[in-house]
Amino acid sequence: MAHQDQMHRYLFENHAVRGELVTVSDTWREIIKGHDYPLPVQKVLGELLVATSLLTATLKFDGDITVQLQGDGPLNLAVINGNNRQEMRGVARMQGEIAAESTLKEMVGNGYLVITISPAEGERYQGVVGLEGETLAECLEDYFMRSEQLPTRLFIRTGEIEGQQGAGGILLQVLPAQDANPDDFTHLATLTETIKTDELLGLPANDVLWRLYHQEEVTIFDPQDVCFRCTCSHERCGEVLATLPEAEVDEILAEDGKIDMHCDYCGSHYTYDAVDIAAIRNGSSASNDQLH
Ligand SMILES: [Zn+2]
Repeated sequence: MAHQDQMHRYLFENHAVRGELVTVSDTWREIIKGHDYPLPVQKVLGELLVATSLLTATLKFDGDITVQLQGDGPLNLAVINGNNRQEMRGVARMQGEIAAESTLKEMVGNGYLVITISPAEGERYQGVVGLEGETLAECLEDYFMRSEQLPTRLFIRTGEIEGQQGAGGILLQVLPAQDANPDDFTHLATLTETIKTDELLGLPANDVLWRLYHQEEVTIFDPQDVCFRCTCSHERCGEVLATLPEAEVDEILAEDGKIDMHCDYCGSHYTYDAVDIAAIRNGSSASNDQLH
C-alpha cells in the first residue's frame, strides 16, 4: 500500500548539508484528473509538482512559489503553484499535437523556466532560467546556483507503483553560510542518485533514508502532509477581474447581466453581477488609497 503524500526534511549531522524527501502521487493524480493530458504532459506536470514541492519546502517564510515552463513548442505552458502548507495545484496548456515519446525539449521548444516566489508579506521575486539542461532537475540546479549560490541537487522520479502513477523526489542542498566539503556533497549526491523509483514511491521515508545513508548520521524532522488544494475564491478571482479594462467588463455586464470567471487550476466558476463589480472597484480604490 503506497503511503500518503508527505514532505520529510532531514539533516546530515556531520556535513553542512540538508535534505528533503517528498512523495506527491495522490496530489499528482488530483491535478491531472479531469484533464485530457497526453502522457508526456502528465509526466512534465508530475516532475514540476515534485520540484515545486521541494522548492516551497526551502522557504523560510509564509508564501507561495509558482514554477512555470513556457516555450514555443506544442506544450506552451505547464505550471505548478504551491505554498508553505504544501497545498499544490497546477495546469498545462497545449497548442499542438504531443507525440507519445516526446522529450521535455521537443514539447516545450525554445523555452524557459520562470520561478516566482511570493511571500505573504514583502516583495515578490522572479527568477528565469533558459531550458538548457536536458531535464527539469538540471534546470533547477542551475537556478539555485545562480539565484542563491547554493550547490543543490534534485532527484525526480515518476513511474508506476502498484498499477497507479506515482511521483516523488529528493533535494540535497549545502547549508547557507557554512563550508561544506565539496567532496562530501558529491559523495552524498552519489548515494542519493541510486534511489530507485519503486523504492522512493513504495517504501516509508525512514526506510528509504536508511537504505541511502545508513553509514551517515541523519536527523529526520516531523513530516508535513502534501495535498492538492486550489486557493482560488470569489474574492481572489474578483481581484483578477479588477485588473481587466473597465470598458470591456462593462460591455459584458450590459450584454449578459453578469461576468463569469473560471479558475484554470480547478475549473471552479465564479459569477459577478453589477453590485459585485461596483464593490470590487470600490474595494480596489480603497486599498490603493491606503498605499499613500
Ligand atoms: Zn481554483
